[in-house]
Amino acid sequence: MPTPLPDPDRPDRGGSPYPDLTGWLRPRLLAPGPVEVDPRALLRLAQPQIHHRSPEARALISSVRAKLQRLFAGAEVLLTTSSGTGAFEAALTSLVPREAPVLSASAGKFGARWGQMAERLGYRVERLEAPWGQALDPGQVAAAVSGKAALLLTHSETSTGVLHDVEAIAAAARATEPDLLILVDAVTSFAVAPLLPLAWGLDAVIAGSQKGAAIPPGLGFVALSPAAAERLLEAQGFSLNLARELRSQRLGETAYTPAINLIAALDYSLDRLLSLDLEVLWGERARMSRALLEAGVALGCRPFAERPSPAVATLCPPPGWAATEVTRSLQALGARAAAGQDAYKDLTFRISLMGYFDRYDALAVAGLLEEALAALGCPFERGAAVRAAWEALGT
Ligand SMILES: *Cc1c(COP(=O)(O)O)cnc(C)c1O
Repeated sequence: MPTPLPDPDRPDRGGSPYPDLTGWLRPRLLAPGPVEVDPRALLRLAQPQIHHRSPEARALISSVRAKLQRLFAGAEVLLTTSSGTGAFEAALTSLVPREAPVLSASAGKFGARWGQMAERLGYRVERLEAPWGQALDPGQVAAAVSGKAALLLTHSETSTGVLHDVEAIAAAARATEPDLLILVDAVTSFAVAPLLPLAWGLDAVIAGSQKGAAIPPGLGFVALSPAAAERLLEAQGFSLNLARELRSQRLGETAYTPAINLIAALDYSLDRLLSLDLEVLWGERARMSRALLEAGVALGCRPFAERPSPAVATLCPPPGWAATEVTRSLQALGARAAAGQDAYKDLTFRISLMGYFDRYDALAVAGLLEEALAALGCPFERGAAVRAAWEALGT
């Protein structure tokens, strides 16, 4: 065996008692998308190619739509062959007439993106922006929504790790403006956090395949209320026209060629998600993410989000260390987490266990975080992170 050359990017291991295992450790995707995928779901991608207008494809598309409807707590779902951004664009252009007045309420990067999109598409956009890390105030949103045709929200703001109280915001906004269309980005809350589109009075709820659905990127989902399904616009949008898709997908087809292989992988992955009752699934996701936050606190980190989303644990590193140092140290252990976005690049780091991870992976990741911070020389009692994670998993 040749002796490996010294790697200038490898951090000093801080006197770790363990051998240097770089290059042998299992790589782990700990960023909030794309996520780890069940190898059995990946094998579904490798089946002989089927035609998308065959009886087999119609059965598959119908099966996936029925399973998605269960995960969206009863709302009818349309598939798009796009990432989550494309699904949001489809919902916006298919529901809201061009030039209509729209309120974009946000407190982070993804929420702000929907305001930019609506501006680019020719809507008259007003923005309500709260500071990063905070949760939107339902009363403020309700006050700003007067006279608007649509409200754009983000449920789980992945840039900050905040779960906004969409139920309360939607109720307050609708009390002000009864005919309002409410469009919600649920890309990282779908199959992760409690999400009840119909009970909460939401018109369109958007998600994508590479987060909670635990398959590769390339599919979007739009869950519609019955009222929204009735008022889809025919004349706006072509490749992402939900009026057309609704007619086709009710027959088990799509308007254009879908990513049928991904739909096959999704069919498998949804079975795994639906093997638990939704409340049990959401409860376990919450415990797993709390385990990471508690592990971080035990190592001297501080939780960033006012109202933490179970999709992503967002932590401020111990005082004196930069978040990018933490993510680099994790990367040296094969684990890809995410630093903060924009102004928060050095101030926060984000770890997600969405996808093919269970509670025992949460313990492993608590251990990885401990090792990564030890390598940086952060002071704490060894074993503290895994112990804290175990305790959170037991609650
Ligand atoms: C990942 C993500 C999206 C979608 O991004 P795409 O790259 O288009 O899939 C949208 N909103 C949030 C909150 C996300 O985390």
